Amino acid sequence: MSSGFSRRRPELIVAGPARAEEKTQSRQEEQRASPADDPAVIASEIASCVKCGLCTGRKTTVPGEGSLEPPVMFVGEGPGEEEDRTGRPFVGAAGRYLDKWIPAIGLRREECFIANVVKCRPPRNREPHPEEITACLPYLQRQIRAVKPRAICCLGRIAAHTLLQTTASLGALRGKAHTWQGIPLVVTYHPSAVLRDTSLRKPVWDDLKLLKTLL
Ligand code: URA
Ligand code: SF4
Repeated sequence: MSSGFSRRRPELIVAGPARAEEKTQSRQEEQRASPADDPAVIASEIASCVKCGLCTGRKTTVPGEGSLEPPVMFVGEGPGEEEDRTGRPFVGAAGRYLDKWIPAIGLRREECFIANVVKCRPPRNREPHPEEITACLPYLQRQIRAVKPRAICCLGRIAAHTLLQTTASLGALRGKAHTWQGIPLVVTYHPSAVLRDTSLRKPVWDDLKLLKTLL
């Protein structure tokens, strides 16, 4: 079964037993200070995490998945029903919609890293509470440092408020480039919100165009 992580850039994969990329460590692997910075290690810590009350209602933890050298890291809010069942981020209706956004920036889903602010499903898909976000945030911070995306895209208010440490409205935050610890960061609406309100499609399209300019 796939671990959910991929270090391969598909365009670099060549046939034969001696792939160059297997002989040389990746840039991130060389720079990784400790095993605790390995996304697979972070995922296994999440799998047994009981740091907040969301642990009691989860079926599966949803650590996030994707390329370990991603141009973009997408950050959502938290797992929904389908994510909780499968252990994979953004695989429900919102995820199927996000899958249509990613080609707009010239990328494939598997080239990106996709994660959430909280790794366990909040009951009835309510928003995560501040204390749950605080408890879970170190995992996301470590994931970002581990995969070093060229840019971060916050999907919705919870991700934007958490990473930018602000309470400004999404309307005020979107449409411009921010940074998170030196990494360019763009805020846009959550795919679920855009599914409910089609008037948000145009601003999302503009935000994705902005994101593309940062890569
Ligand atoms: N919504 C999110 O914020 N994250 C998911 O993984 C799925 C839906
Ligand atoms: Fe741990 Fe995060 Fe799950 Fe809370 S939501 S139990 S902090 S992994």
